[in-house]
Amino acid sequence: MFLDAVSREVETPIEFTNGNGNGHQKSIFSPWKTWEPSRISHHGSVCCELAREWLFNTDMSSLNGGSLFTGPRWLRHRFEWGPGTYPIHWCGVLKKRALDCGVHAALAHEVFVRRGLKSFRAQLVQEFSGAAGSQWRSNWEKNEAMTAWIDEDRIYHEGCAVLSANKKIKVWDPSAGWWIDARTTSGYGSVLALRLSTREQLAGIRWGSHELRSNEWITLS
Ligand SMILES: [Zn+2]
Ligand SMILES: [Zn+2]
Repeated sequence: MFLDAVSREVETPIEFTNGNGNGHQKSIFSPWKTWEPSRISHHGSVCCELAREWLFNTDMSSLNGGSLFTGPRWLRHRFEWGPGTYPIHWCGVLKKRALDCGVHAALAHEVFVRRGLKSFRAQLVQEFSGAAGSQWRSNWEKNEAMTAWIDEDRIYHEGCAVLSANKKIKVWDPSAGWWIDARTTSGYGSVLALRLSTREQLAGIRWGSHELRSNEWITLS
C-alpha cells in the first residue's frame, strides 16, 4: 500500500478498458489499477543490511530444516498487522510492532527468494464488509496512514505467490499467516481479483482453477 505509483487520477472518474481489452465499465480493481507492490527502502548502508541478515537468519532458524514451502508464519507473530506509513526502511522495520500488509508481503517475498524459491508479489482485491472497512479506516486515520486501500466493503491487499511445478502457484497471505484458498471467490474475506507483479512476462500461471498472466489484474469470480 505504497503511494509511490498511485496517481491522483484514481479519484477522478476515468475511462479505461477492462481486462478483456474492451468495454468501459468499472472493474472490481479499478481504484487500485495503477498501484505497484509496496517497497521497503534501503539506506544503502550497514544498518539496513544488518536488518536483512536478521530476517534471513531468523527465517532459517524458524524453518529448522522443514520444507522450503512452509509459509513464514513467524513474521506474523513477530509483527502484527496494523497501520504503517511510507517510506519505511529495512532498519526501521525492526523497530515496529505492527506492519501493514505491503511490508509484510515485501518481507515474505524476500524470505521466499532467499530460500531459493520463485516468488512473485501478489496484489489482491478482497471483499469484507462496510463495517470492517470503516473500522479499519478510523484506525488507519488515527495513525496517519493512508486509507485509499479501503473502498467500502472491498480492500486492496498484498501477499505473495510461490511458484511450484507445472506453473502452479500458492498464494501466501503474510498478514493473516496462511495460504489463501483459491476456491473462495465470494463472501467475507474472499479474493475477488488478483494481480501478480513479475519482472519477466509469464502466461498460463495456474492458481487453483484460475489462469493468470503477469502484471495484469484478473477478476476471479
Ligand atoms: Zn538503514
Ligand atoms: Zn492488506
